[in-house]
Amino acid sequence: MITASMLYSFSTCPHRVTLDLFGDPAERDEISPFVELLWERGSAFEKETIEKLGVPFLNLRDVPRIEREGMTMRAILSGEDLIYGGRISHAGLLGEPDLLRRTDHGYIPGDIKSGAGLEGQSEDADGKPKKHYALQLSLYSDILQGKGWAESQAAFVWDIHGQEVAYDLSQARGPRTPQTMWEEYEDALETVTAIANQAIETTPALIGDCKLCHWRSHCRRQINISDDLTLISELGRSRRDKFPPELRTVRGLANTDLDSLIRGSKTTIEGIGAKTLRTWHARAVLQKQENAKPYFIEPVELPTATVELFFDVETDPFRDLCYLHGFVRRVGGRNSTEQFIPFTADEATPELEKDAFADAWRFVHEHADAIVYYYSPYERTTWKRLARQYPDVASEDEVMALFEQPRFIDLYQDFVRSKMIWPTSSLSIKALAKFLGFQWRDTDPSGAASVQWFHHWVETGDPAIWARILAYNEDDCRAMRVLADALRKLNVA
Ligand code: SF4
Repeated sequence: MITASMLYSFSTCPHRVTLDLFGDPAERDEISPFVELLWERGSAFEKETIEKLGVPFLNLRDVPRIEREGMTMRAILSGEDLIYGGRISHAGLLGEPDLLRRTDHGYIPGDIKSGAGLEGQSEDADGKPKKHYALQLSLYSDILQGKGWAESQAAFVWDIHGQEVAYDLSQARGPRTPQTMWEEYEDALETVTAIANQAIETTPALIGDCKLCHWRSHCRRQINISDDLTLISELGRSRRDKFPPELRTVRGLANTDLDSLIRGSKTTIEGIGAKTLRTWHARAVLQKQENAKPYFIEPVELPTATVELFFDVETDPFRDLCYLHGFVRRVGGRNSTEQFIPFTADEATPELEKDAFADAWRFVHEHADAIVYYYSPYERTTWKRLARQYPDVASEDEVMALFEQPRFIDLYQDFVRSKMIWPTSSLSIKALAKFLGFQWRDTDPSGAASVQWFHHWVETGDPAIWARILAYNEDDCRAMRVLADALRKLNVA
């Protein structure tokens, strides 16, 4: 049986479908606490939504699975208006849509999601349907149509904002997506079926989702053994798969004659330009050197100032809350002067979030001559979001103007990514600072873990958890200082 959760896994990583079906269960990692938290929150949100529903419905969620499918069928045949927790199957497909709703054109499936119903939605842009939601809904709709219980490809999501978001599966997800959602589903279904029938093989790839995956240790071993090309930072699965087989290892790319692949600004590899290929090649060559040292690809000038601030925010994506703006302040380049200055919302309330933002905003303006280092655009986008929410603290334009000042340095965008070659398989601050010898005090330092700590802090108020969050953020700030100092000592190649 092909299930909606297989399609969900497929949309993240095809190899996960393979391993979930055929992998050795003894090699699975523990489920990450962050993933457990996601599940917990999803179930709690679903329960809350159903409890508040206010319209009659048939609840099949607690019916034993073995009886649920028959009861769902009988409920549909008797014309039940709304069915919660049903189970349906047809022609090798099995689905458990949260909701089945009767309409003039038969039943349509819906899911309750503890996330936004659309992605990329903002004040300036319409959102678009999420591919993994659309794949799951399509499978339910396919079963309903196969059974003759639906006449359309309509579906819906009840999302975290209490909105019903329509998913018309006969439409494309956006103007840049040539296929309709239904066509995307048909392609995905074909590949997942082929994986399940062992008609095609998949291989692991080092991608962002690996960190939270229950096959992470197994795949990392395989990737290292095979010297997979995704060990090159920011290369990824889809671009790896465009390379010819002989170039799908780091060694293979490092040893290749680049001139044989490059034609002006293009290359013989579809969709990959000459500049990108040169960067990846340089990363591959450096990775294969002993005692490799990162280097600049062009001369750069690193600004100097008496006072430096190393800045990092912590957020809770579930509550859409920024609860910590951490700064390490250093004076005269002397580490002995370092001080950690956090501005915090130690309760998950908008009032405290606003106060913390206002304090951090004031602090940065009190240090008008300081250089402010941060890593990646996340701090800027978080402050923009806060300005939208609390315009009496600062306007969005003021936040933009602040981050455009030359004294605001995004170490990732301004230097690491655009002007340097590193031998690491990731360009995250964690990977670079660890490469430079920095150690976090925490045994499990990660953004995902910190979200989970904050969740427990809100639930328990345990001061040890709060101390852990602060220490983690302070170390993130210090890691940036280690990186900024290292950049001053590195050469141009
Ligand atoms: S660890 Fe990575 S490559 Fe392996 S199955 Fe999970 S997401 Fe895929």
